[in-house]
Amino acid sequence: MKAYTYLAPGHFSLAEKPRPTLQNERDAIVRVTLASICTSDLHIKNGAVPAARPGVTVGHEFVGVVEETGSALSIKRGQRVAVNVETYCGNCYFCRHGWVNNCSDEQGGWSLGCRIDGGQAEYARIPLADTNLVPIPDGVSDEAALFTGDLLSTGYWATDIAGIGEGDTVLLIGAGPTGYCTALCALLRRPARLIVCEKDPFRRAFFKAHFPQAEVVSPEEALPLLRSAGHGGADCVIEAAGSKESFRLAWEGARPNAVVVIVAMYEEAMTLPLPEMYGKNLTFKTGGVDGCRMDEIMAHIATGDLDATPLITHTFPLSEIDRAYALFEARADGVMKVAIRP
Ligand SMILES: [Zn+2]
Ligand SMILES: [Zn+2]
Repeated sequence: MKAYTYLAPGHFSLAEKPRPTLQNERDAIVRVTLASICTSDLHIKNGAVPAARPGVTVGHEFVGVVEETGSALSIKRGQRVAVNVETYCGNCYFCRHGWVNNCSDEQGGWSLGCRIDGGQAEYARIPLADTNLVPIPDGVSDEAALFTGDLLSTGYWATDIAGIGEGDTVLLIGAGPTGYCTALCALLRRPARLIVCEKDPFRRAFFKAHFPQAEVVSPEEALPLLRSAGHGGADCVIEAAGSKESFRLAWEGARPNAVVVIVAMYEEAMTLPLPEMYGKNLTFKTGGVDGCRMDEIMAHIATGDLDATPLITHTFPLSEIDRAYALFEARADGVMKVAIRP
């Protein structure tokens, strides 16, 4: 089968590999029907993910059809499924608390498409599949289900730990694909105001077109608007942009005693100027998604409450995946997300 493979820093290639086989009673083999390209894949390509194993098939956000099942699984062959970015065991100390990003199983956390073969391929072996596959209901397309396991899980988790309540003012920094899915999840919680800050004019326009209820502003406009908000800033902040400036805005734009959730990945250390912040009494929550609520997310997709399909601006066959990466990497042609069809 064909599988897009990380060879060495700077090099991905569409390689011929044997079809994966069951190795464990909790394994499933999934025939991939649609996969996404994620910014994290670019981080692997750029050599910025030390855990990534050369030779691994990349891709960690995908949907498909169950082809083979280990003896411990109740899911049936032929079932359409979305795959979790984080394969977690469900039994360890961290999983029992819902902190599946830190699952202590050796295949736990983000391993698919990083430490073990992922889904930019014709087939993938999913370990611990009883906890990491969610059925796709009839009537939900592959496109609608595609972001369940990564982007929508991230937005769902971030808006949950931010504690967004009805009537809150929410500041979301970053209107890329993660911001888009986070906004969808935030709106489920009925905030009074959703203020979205983004420096890229194209992304601001894209966001405005899809979220007429949001106030979409540039970084220069954000602080004056937030200072005039109810209590001098946002009640909840979610930072999904990942620069020094966006990190500063995250705490500056928060009202005293607010919760600030850091979803973004930074390429350098960030500094909290504590003397300047003294008395603001903020709560920071940081880290990687605890992606264990795919069933709830899929239910929202099925009712139409979460629709991230407009994010898929381009689709390529697996045979043209090099071209798809080049487009995604260059942010050319108005691309937001690229889907790959094996
Ligand atoms: Zn990802
Ligand atoms: Zn675990």
